[in-house]
Amino acid sequence: MDHRCTHHGLTRRQIMSSAAVGVAASMSGWVSGRALAAPPEGARPAPPSLTPDAALAALKQGNRDFLSGRGPRPVTNTRRRFEIARAQYPMAVLVSCSDSRVPPELLFGRGLGELFIIRNAGNTIDTTAMGSLEYAVAELNVPLVVVMGHERCGAVGAAVAVVEKGAKFPGSIGQMVEPIVPAVLDARRQNPPDLLDASVRANVRRTVARLRDFSEPMVLDRIRGGKLRIVGARYDLDDGNVDFFDEGPPARS
Ligand SMILES: [Zn+2]
Repeated sequence: MDHRCTHHGLTRRQIMSSAAVGVAASMSGWVSGRALAAPPEGARPAPPSLTPDAALAALKQGNRDFLSGRGPRPVTNTRRRFEIARAQYPMAVLVSCSDSRVPPELLFGRGLGELFIIRNAGNTIDTTAMGSLEYAVAELNVPLVVVMGHERCGAVGAAVAVVEKGAKFPGSIGQMVEPIVPAVLDARRQNPPDLLDASVRANVRRTVARLRDFSEPMVLDRIRGGKLRIVGARYDLDDGNVDFFDEGPPARS
């Protein structure tokens, strides 16, 4: 018996498995079961209406799932690839470190098309990073920006070495860590027991504050309108937990 459906040449089995994927994905707080078939040429799926607070809650749950190993599996199959081929609606922008131990999709249990990731060593915001972030917020309507540092960050460690020992680095590395130096100086004023870790958090706080207070109107207007939230976080290499330590006020809706 031919199970081929008239719609887009999909078999019944493919549609069924896609429905299962939709359920699993909506359980993780994001993609609904809509758009089970590939959109016709030129069509864009309707953007989901995820609030900033719901996006944040989904990431927190995703990290809990990552830690427990029991959550829904991230959706990375052909069906999902089809769904997002013509339009993307990521739930969050991640500004995070290039460190190989800190892959945002894995830490938050996310699949294809869910995170818009800006990565560099030390999770700083230069012009390229800022333009990428503005694009995600203004063009893709992403409701949440997470600036995430991590334990024992090498780039922040380099900035600490600059401050503490006047260290110099070859090539472009010195220039790369320069924007982190003010964070180390901020942290050092508090005389913390662990200057590196305090600097990791200070580096995140400074970036979050800059984004909240000195972004372009395309970003600020969305924050004020309750359509965007910017939060800070630190990932723990040892226990796998993401600590959202600079959440600011919940978004007004
Ligand atoms: Zn790092």
